[in-house]
Amino acid sequence: MTTEYNAVITEFDPIIGLETHIELGTKSKMFCSCSAQFGGEPNTFVCPVCLGMPGSMPVVNRVAVESTIRMGLALNCSIVPWCRFARKNYFYPDMPKNYQISQYDEPLCINGYLDVTVATENGPQVFRVEIERVHMEEDTGKLLHAGGAGRIHGATHSLVDYNRAGIPLIEVVTKPILGTGVLAPEVAKAYVAELRDLMRALGVSDVRMEEGSLRCDVNVSLSRPGEEWGTRTETKNVNSLRSVERAVRTEMIRQADRLRAGERIIQETRHFNEETGDTTSGRSKEQAEDYRYFPEPDLVPIAPSEAWIEELRGTLPEIPSVRRARLQIDWGISDFDMQSLVNAGALELIVASIDAGVQPAAARKWWTGELTRVANERHCELGDLTVNASDIFEIEGLISAGDLTDKMARSVFEGLLDGEGSVSQIVSQRGLVVVNDDASLIAAIATALADSPDIAEKIQGGKIAAAGSIVGAVMKATQGQADAAKVRTLLLEQLGVTE
Ligand code: ADP
Ligand code: MG
Ligand code: ZN
Repeated sequence: MTTEYNAVITEFDPIIGLETHIELGTKSKMFCSCSAQFGGEPNTFVCPVCLGMPGSMPVVNRVAVESTIRMGLALNCSIVPWCRFARKNYFYPDMPKNYQISQYDEPLCINGYLDVTVATENGPQVFRVEIERVHMEEDTGKLLHAGGAGRIHGATHSLVDYNRAGIPLIEVVTKPILGTGVLAPEVAKAYVAELRDLMRALGVSDVRMEEGSLRCDVNVSLSRPGEEWGTRTETKNVNSLRSVERAVRTEMIRQADRLRAGERIIQETRHFNEETGDTTSGRSKEQAEDYRYFPEPDLVPIAPSEAWIEELRGTLPEIPSVRRARLQIDWGISDFDMQSLVNAGALELIVASIDAGVQPAAARKWWTGELTRVANERHCELGDLTVNASDIFEIEGLISAGDLTDKMARSVFEGLLDGEGSVSQIVSQRGLVVVNDDASLIAAIATALADSPDIAEKIQGGKIAAAGSIVGAVMKATQGQADAAKVRTLLLEQLGVTE
């Protein structure tokens, strides 16, 4: 933690608020039967409804409503007995109707909470994040700005793709989160991670931040203790967990600088710059925009019956925090170890490896050790590495059969990550064979002893630690392909030394 950040905390209390947009993984769009698939040739998943043609009529996607109710229930919300869609009127070229069908003052789910855990020096700390509302809306299309390095600034022209227009989008809005203090950035990140895991467990979305199916707006304000709440800024479309944390932190530092200089914070949207970690000014929100909301006349209200809600409640999965507690007991690991593997994004990968037949301890070892190291080195997420559960199962099988050493296993991983082929191809291409036969090991030991004549005497004189240098020399001579423990045993045998 920087001294700059610590100084903010000694003077100010942060308040954060998160608005998360989740694209549902339904087959079809929110109000028409077009495919809601990601990608596709531009403007191929479109029809008169999602292109906003005059006279076309929207029809609500039942699965989208069910998914929203399940999300609300999983977030401990009340499901309202009756609500309507509203038209939010504004013009933007990625939105062909010139209004977005959304929910305004009648959201489907209200007043819930999500408990999130943050690791602190004194162990895990739980924060209850209160949920204001969960509402349905539709996504907009996508603009591509050409000729200006992808940015609107300096672009020569813009292209529009309406494939995304009308994909069901659920917005989850928190109440202002107070009392997080120094942990504000971590709480924000932990909340988004927990929400993502919960949505994944519900199976309502693939929640891929990098593909934009989960996007987050980060609200931050500062005030001095005892003062009224400060003015918030809203950093838009932050698209990774790490960026959520960084956006809160940089925004706190920036606002503190302004406030100390006697300036006021302008209520505005801001953009997060992934490269620099800075936020820059976007659109002012000092004047509330007039969206001329009114109830959508082309859609009937939604009035979920008690029976339907209870039926959906019956489909809720084990929630991630309960599942984590269960796995932690199964694996016999500490709170700290569980928290760190969750933070590293390793939990699901470990579970998948265990499901593929790998022993829990080995699965944990590879994902939190070698593979985490490589992911950090390559600045990517663990899940982006080209290693899967069955690779680990295969590698572990070779290790337990004595055909690979740990060191060689790391070489196989390296090969997998560099796309050199399957585990068996890499083993043969890289010539990874354990030198196991006693004769060649004894020969290598003899050579090593001959190269350092004084060492044998030292070992025989009781300095067994000196054996390390001979083992090292043999490992080097066999290009790391010998089993070090075995070399050591043979060496001591040769010298007639017992431990
Ligand atoms: P908007 O439409 O302007 O984005 P929303 O009500 O959708 O407004 O979302 C506002 C978000 O900001 C909510 O998560 C809310 O809890 C949070 N928020 C409100 N006041 C503050 C504040 N003073 N500081 C930080 N966050 C705040
Ligand atoms: Mg907002
Ligand atoms: Zn359509």
